Amino acid sequence: MDEFVFVSGRLCLDLAGTQLWRRSLHTELLVTPDDLRRWTVLAEIVDDPGSVDSRGLERVRHVREAVYTLVRRWPLGDPDAAAEEALAEVNEAARLPLPKIQLTKSGQLMRVGSIDEVLGAVGRDAVDLLGSAQFSRMRECANQDCTRLFVDLSRSRARRWCGMAECGNRHKAATYRKRKKQQSVA
Ligand SMILES: [Zn+2]
Repeated sequence: MDEFVFVSGRLCLDLAGTQLWRRSLHTELLVTPDDLRRWTVLAEIVDDPGSVDSRGLERVRHVREAVYTLVRRWPLGDPDAAAEEALAEVNEAARLPLPKIQLTKSGQLMRVGSIDEVLGAVGRDAVDLLGSAQFSRMRECANQDCTRLFVDLSRSRARRWCGMAECGNRHKAATYRKRKKQQSVA
């Protein structure tokens, strides 16, 4: 099973990354309502989204694809119907309520909300990203097959990989092997 990772620096891009290899395999990580429930908890949006059904899953996948369409085509310039629809969907999600944060007597922080609040958080994050200067730092992973997006918040602005374990290490290993081979030929 592919595990969820949170390497994008933005919630909306982490959600977009729950479909991997978008130019080839289209590996879906949110297959069942339970996958979505796990993702929302690991993403620390809400502690318990309550019962998640297939409709909830479909809603989240729908907004995810709208986010992906929008960030790949932003700024829209002369938008076609698909881009306009994606914009409307992301804006609609951003109008939903946000998770409530509360404290317990023992001092624990609780994040309370259901799928509506999860979508609200994602929509708000997407609008915030697209409407801010940080958008100019959004990159796609340098691994040609990988379609993960992230914001490069490094000082050098030279980040190339979605996450070292996933792509950077593989690249480094390949470079290392190549160098070894060249050395042994020489
Ligand atoms: Zn990658």
